[in-house]
Amino acid sequence: MKYPLEKLWEAVVQCNKTYDGIFYYAVKTTGIFCRPSCKSKTPRKENVEFFFQIKDAVRSEYRPCKRCRPDRYQPTYHPNEKIARDIKRILENEYDQSWTLHKLSKRVGISAYHLQRLFKNRTGRSPRQYLNQVRIRQAKQLLLEGKQNNLEICFAVGFHDPNQFYTAFRKETGASPLAFKRTAKELAKR
Ligand SMILES: [Zn+2]
Repeated sequence: MKYPLEKLWEAVVQCNKTYDGIFYYAVKTTGIFCRPSCKSKTPRKENVEFFFQIKDAVRSEYRPCKRCRPDRYQPTYHPNEKIARDIKRILENEYDQSWTLHKLSKRVGISAYHLQRLFKNRTGRSPRQYLNQVRIRQAKQLLLEGKQNNLEICFAVGFHDPNQFYTAFRKETGASPLAFKRTAKELAKR
């Protein structure tokens, strides 16, 4: 088995969508099997049986849940997951480029609309939000190194507008670049 039981159980408890299409859980007391993301009441752990194939669950005489319809589910998970990972990697490696949704969508070869939705679905953030996060992480690093001033850092991490930089910085860290640096220095002294 590829996944430890604990991991599977955790996915069931959290109704974790990312495991849909990877495994199914069946409940001995009800005779029904579900996708991990099913919103029905979490069963007792000792009553649960895991399956990696629908046919195995059916062979064990379980019926598909009417609510989450595991039998109808098309696992689109794998390709989307890969695309989301690719996008993340691109943004992490090339955060200093000026990205637009259009440019990014051309790069990964899917429509901008699809890209935006897919990425948000998989990561909970838009590509822009993710990019900002990466940039601010980098900016914090540069601030702590102390070799460049705020404006230089703003451009170095890919922002074209200091206002955007400050807004994004505040959003990610809850502080201005200056306040962040000051606090970090204070902490380092202790
Ligand atoms: Zn279900």
